[in-house]
Amino acid sequence: MIRQNVTILGATGSIGVSTLDVIRRHPERFHAFALCAHSQVDKLFEQVCEFAPKFAVVRDAALADELGRRCRDAGLATKVRHGVEALSEMAAHPEVDIVMAAIVGAAGLEPTLAAARAGKKILLANKEVLVMAGELFMQTVREHDALLLPVDSEHNAIFQSLPSDISRGIAACGVRRILLTASGGPFRTLSPVELNEVTPEAACAHPNWVMGQKISVDSATMMNKGLEVIEAHWLFDCSPEQIQVVIHPQSVIHSLVEYADGSVLAQLGNPDMRTPIAYALAYPERIDAGVPSLDLFALARLDFEAPDLDRFPCLQLAYAALRAGGTAPAILNAANEVAVAAFLDRRLPFLGIPRLIESTLAALPAGPESSLADVLVADAEARRIAERLVREGGAK
Ligand code: NAD
Ligand code: MG
Repeated sequence: MIRQNVTILGATGSIGVSTLDVIRRHPERFHAFALCAHSQVDKLFEQVCEFAPKFAVVRDAALADELGRRCRDAGLATKVRHGVEALSEMAAHPEVDIVMAAIVGAAGLEPTLAAARAGKKILLANKEVLVMAGELFMQTVREHDALLLPVDSEHNAIFQSLPSDISRGIAACGVRRILLTASGGPFRTLSPVELNEVTPEAACAHPNWVMGQKISVDSATMMNKGLEVIEAHWLFDCSPEQIQVVIHPQSVIHSLVEYADGSVLAQLGNPDMRTPIAYALAYPERIDAGVPSLDLFALARLDFEAPDLDRFPCLQLAYAALRAGGTAPAILNAANEVAVAAFLDRRLPFLGIPRLIESTLAALPAGPESSLADVLVADAEARRIAERLVREGGAK
């Protein structure tokens, strides 16, 4: 078996750590070729010691000096790089077969595009890439014959439930609807008054999944599901009307596909990201992910509800941005990143998050998304407006 070289963008995060856990179980199949992180040097150094990658990447020169010194002292041959160009270089490196895109937020866009331009097998966790620049990214994937495999558990479940000749288009394959499941987050049953009082600590404690802070807050506001609706639209070429969000608090059914004949296919499993990661890493084969069997008897029941759009307006904002098109989803994404950071810093209440996003979208008209420059300008402008609104208390 030929060992495949893997670049992990976001190696020290929740998805990065789970990816390394799957790689650790299959050293004959995968080699961690480049481990890229932002500023967690201690954690990255531990990973470098265990996996001996050819390259490690950190945010800036000072952190790279520190990591480089520690690697030399430990007798490791890993080369240390820094900065945004190094991320794209590792994503497009000629020796690399697979790129795990697991940076959080807009920072992941350019390196993931670089992987697409280099025609790599891309494992996409970083959903913000498709929200910001869905059309551009999908076009780049097609033009350069890259292989795009969704890692987000819902989209991975949909991918597994679709026929393999999906390139003909979902209508030709007899798909009627996509049913995107959502846990509902930790505040599913809270009243509006209780919602306004929630703290960052409570928002980051998800009932079913252990994840990074940003996606945990996104799950609590349900913006995560909104971003996933946009992600599904681009990945599977379906209209907003064909995507139905279904609240399923147990997070065992990871999503479903309904066909013209009334059949509904689903993928089930324990809520553990190592399942979609292992699926995408080994695709089209199946490998052990270290995930225990699903115990249906212990589970006993599966529940479903309709989403409450009044209490969780972020979902509606995302549908509206998708329908508006152009740079509207990039503006939504940027305003959300600013809002989540402000909420985590206690500069914005929980219910200020949707208000800030709505005000930013109202203040900045969407334009066409015809180039990366269009997306980056809209992103920067939306951040500037959203930051100003936070400072002025306009979203309180
Ligand atoms: P995380 O916060 O745990 O990790 C983020 C990683 O990105 C870290 O390694 C960090 O060093 C790196 N990073 C952050 N900013 C960076 C920058 N400017 N430059 C370079 N590296 C940077 O996040 P996570 O929970 O692992 O999520 C990663 C992505 O995967 C997100 O887009 C998220 O929506 C998506 N996702 C996560 C899960 C999950 O279960 N955690 C599930 C589905 C999708
Ligand atoms: Mg998901």
